[in-house]
Amino acid sequence: MTAIAENLRRILDRIADATARANRPEGSVRLVAVSKTHPAEAVIEALAAGQLLFGENRVQEAAGKFPDLRPAHPAMRLHVIGGLQTNKAEDAVKIADVIESLDRPKLAQSLARAEQKLGLKRKYLVQVNVGDEDQKSGIPRAETADFLRACREEHGLNVTGLMCIPPAEGDPRPHFAWLAEQGAKLGLPILSMGMSGDFEAAIAEGATHVRVGTAIFGHRDYGAS
Ligand SMILES: *Cc1c(COP(=O)(O)O)cnc(C)c1O
Repeated sequence: MTAIAENLRRILDRIADATARANRPEGSVRLVAVSKTHPAEAVIEALAAGQLLFGENRVQEAAGKFPDLRPAHPAMRLHVIGGLQTNKAEDAVKIADVIESLDRPKLAQSLARAEQKLGLKRKYLVQVNVGDEDQKSGIPRAETADFLRACREEHGLNVTGLMCIPPAEGDPRPHFAWLAEQGAKLGLPILSMGMSGDFEAAIAEGATHVRVGTAIFGHRDYGAS
């Protein structure tokens, strides 16, 4: 087995254990394998090990890896999980199945225009700034419901859930719990929360998708490219 296949198996085991500990149904948590900064070969290794769902945070990088893999892997799915500039909206709609980083009104407008122009419909998660941190993107907590309404009613976007990145410091669990509560209140079934360091806590609080990069693909070398 390759290192990536081994890591994947280990993470999937930990997800299954955390799901069982939370008394949640088997298979109710999906793994988004975050392959950002890693080459297409790493994605191919993961595909060979049976992983079909991937996350990338930069559209340009994803566009260089994923479209070529689609013909041979029709069941593969790609989530865009990173901050999206409005001028990249069209490229994102072109290559992604789900965009998890819907985080401001201007972007909603650009994505709606891109959908119309391309004749495509995608799924979206609203990214919430659960810590209300100044430097972090995401909709302020108090504006989540209004923003959701605008995305649906003004822009016709198919929003299916919520996504968050809790503050780096402190216990993430209250933030995960808050997101789950909002999701229930707003009738949004998908909750993308939890990364390599905290996905078990996120599962305990109701995550349906965990985004794990480092624990599968290894450390990222941002300096090299
Ligand atoms: C990079 C990234 C992840 C994965 O983080 P790891 O700590 O490597 O598991 C998850 N979510 C987002 C939005 C990311 O940018």
